[in-house]
Amino acid sequence: VTAKKSREVDMVSGKIICGIGMNIIFVSAEVGPWSKTGGLGDVLGGLPPALAANGNRVMTVSPRYDQYKDAWDTSVHVEIKIGDTIETVGFFHCYKRGVDRVFVDHPMFLEKVWGKTKSKIYGPNTGTDYQDNILRFSLLCQAALEAPRVLNLTSSKHFSGPYGEDVVFVANDWHTALLPCFLKSMYQSRGIYMHAKVVFCIHNIAYQGRFAFSDYSLLNLPDQYKSSFDFIDGYEKPVKGRKINLMKAGLLESDKNVTVSPYYAKELVSGVDKGVELDNIIRKVGIIGIVNGMDTQEWNSGTDKYINPNYDITTVTAAKPLLKEALQAEVGLPVDRNIPVIGFIGRLEEQKGSDILVAAISKFIGLNVQIIILGTGKKKFEQQIEQLELLYPDKARGVAKFDVPLAHMITAGADFMIIPSRFEPCGLIQLHAMRYGTIPICASTGGLVDTVKEGYTGFHMGDFNVECATIDPADVLKIVETVGRAIAVYGTLAFNEMIQNCMSQDLSWKGPAKNWETMLLGLGVAGS
Ligand code: ADP
Repeated sequence: VTAKKSREVDMVSGKIICGIGMNIIFVSAEVGPWSKTGGLGDVLGGLPPALAANGNRVMTVSPRYDQYKDAWDTSVHVEIKIGDTIETVGFFHCYKRGVDRVFVDHPMFLEKVWGKTKSKIYGPNTGTDYQDNILRFSLLCQAALEAPRVLNLTSSKHFSGPYGEDVVFVANDWHTALLPCFLKSMYQSRGIYMHAKVVFCIHNIAYQGRFAFSDYSLLNLPDQYKSSFDFIDGYEKPVKGRKINLMKAGLLESDKNVTVSPYYAKELVSGVDKGVELDNIIRKVGIIGIVNGMDTQEWNSGTDKYINPNYDITTVTAAKPLLKEALQAEVGLPVDRNIPVIGFIGRLEEQKGSDILVAAISKFIGLNVQIIILGTGKKKFEQQIEQLELLYPDKARGVAKFDVPLAHMITAGADFMIIPSRFEPCGLIQLHAMRYGTIPICASTGGLVDTVKEGYTGFHMGDFNVECATIDPADVLKIVETVGRAIAVYGTLAFNEMIQNCMSQDLSWKGPAKNWETMLLGLGVAGS
């Protein structure tokens, strides 16, 4: 039985709710909750189930970095040429929330990440890449192109058999940017996948996959694609001079380019700084933005197991003071339900602006306010936040840990969440915060512009200097001024209204999935 056939039968019996019925294959280096370092993993976790709920057949293909207990060996193997060698690659599979989760099995993933270095997906430590990343991700792309043809998946009651050739691939970030090139050079040139489409989605343009120009030969691609990769920048990493840029090729060779918010899409074409030297290419090919949704199961104040009491929009006013006291006690700050508390959660890297925030704290800490910072990342930034307790024992705490329970306690117990990002493609922290009735104070960049409305659901600080090496004093002032404005509203009727506005929004994947579907249908992807 082909996939299409079984779907028609089910449509007749009325079992599919909507039944647009596209075959969608997401390919990504991360897929939450199996593998995740940030927003990319979250999107791959949340968007596919929402698309499947609308009657599409959806698969994700990502590496098998660990011996995932819930995924089984399909016993299907394919041979893939990587550099000069032929590698045998396996596929593991599980079916969850309506989605076929396929994991590509090869020692380049499993041994590196799990066996030797535990959870490092891209390199042995933050900021260092594995030498053979270009080969690892070339293998992922080629395996993903085989998956719809070779895997005979019968896990769902609606669909059975291989996905076949009428599919749309969604490639995500530079790691999977090779996919459209392999699709054309290895398949379409031989009459296979003739109607297949590729959408390329940028989750973060800061990482583009720039390699030495001579590495092109490792890809086994015909010379005709070379110009799509060709790239010159002024940097000496990884080599001086001429390079290949995988993201550039992904943008040029895909049928459609998408990113994770409309405002980030605008920023990407605004100039070299925000477009990170691909602005000219993006202007040429065009890009649209679709805001991400959030995981409304993990982040549900009504059932959250890390907070007590649980609450909803009708009980938030009574619950918040108790949650704030619990948070203050947890981090060792003076317990006082009347003092406004500001939270910060995020990776401690230049992108997130924790250094600008620390510089601003000394200037606003005289106000009636407490601040709690949670994050891990670069050592110098971790040390900075850990210093705060010594400087301001009654006012500030910095916790340099990855601590999920504390992240939930801050999101519930703080009055404000500060997001001082230099750039932020979409951002989830503000979505989590709003859903918990915690008012965002955010930089006016990327998805923060699309999701937080000044005076209605939060406070905007204006956009910051994207230059990462220095702290712009003007940005420090923007934080100080906006924190002052926010504190002045704290406890007023307007403040309570903002909490209600925040909590009454639907921030789930439902809306974003509809927008994705419309975009895919616009591409002419065949529905059944
Ligand atoms: P990015 O993807 O750029 O890291 P996002 O705002 O999209 O940023 O997502 C960050 C996610 O990581 C959120 O779910 C946040 O709660 C979580 N997170 C970040 N740092 C920590 C930490 N130190 N402890 C617990 N959770 C964290």
